[in-house]
Amino acid sequence: MREDERSIVCFIGIGSNVADPVSNCLESIERISLFSHIRITKKSSLYRTEPVGLKEQEWFVNGVIEIKTKYTATTLLKVLQQIEKDMGRIREERWGPRTIDLDILFYGQEVIKEKDLSVPHPELHKRRFVLIPMYEVAPYVIHPAFGISIKGLLNRLQDESRVEVLFENPNVEG
Ligand code: ATP
Ligand code: MG
Ligand code: MG
Repeated sequence: MREDERSIVCFIGIGSNVADPVSNCLESIERISLFSHIRITKKSSLYRTEPVGLKEQEWFVNGVIEIKTKYTATTLLKVLQQIEKDMGRIREERWGPRTIDLDILFYGQEVIKEKDLSVPHPELHKRRFVLIPMYEVAPYVIHPAFGISIKGLLNRLQDESRVEVLFENPNVEG
């Protein structure tokens, strides 16, 4: 951690489609908030979303939060993976059913391409279930690799899978 440095604004994508997905999403947000070097600054509504990729599974619940953190991207990934593990997620097939999935969508304006970490998340611009909640909290954030805003990415989006508001967040701040 870089105590001396200023906080970085990050966006985390949250998803669940087993047991009680709404509770899982809310619990993961609660767990994220307990870390002293993470401050949650915005929360999107929760959305009910049609599965993309592996179609034969339950619909998902998805949302996005904005955080400010002093953790490096690598440490943040470890924190999120530990929460996934603590919440009982076992590594199953990619895109398959999961208790909780916590992905780093953006880490400031950094572009990271490491073995275990790609930021911005390499699929985010192709996914309606990410761009809709992302648009709610930060429509004008620029994708650092494409130089296009979330609004612009949504306008160009091909994905037509359904994304419906489930719980509207009346106040996206904090
Ligand atoms: P997808 O990445 O397509 O959304 P997924 O979230 O189901 O798929 P996981 O099983 O959660 O995939 O993670 C697979 C690996 O992705 C993790 O072990 C992690 O190292 C890697 N990874 C790479 N970039 C990121 C990122 N930005 N956020 C989270 N995990 C990432
Ligand atoms: Mg994911
Ligand atoms: Mg993931």
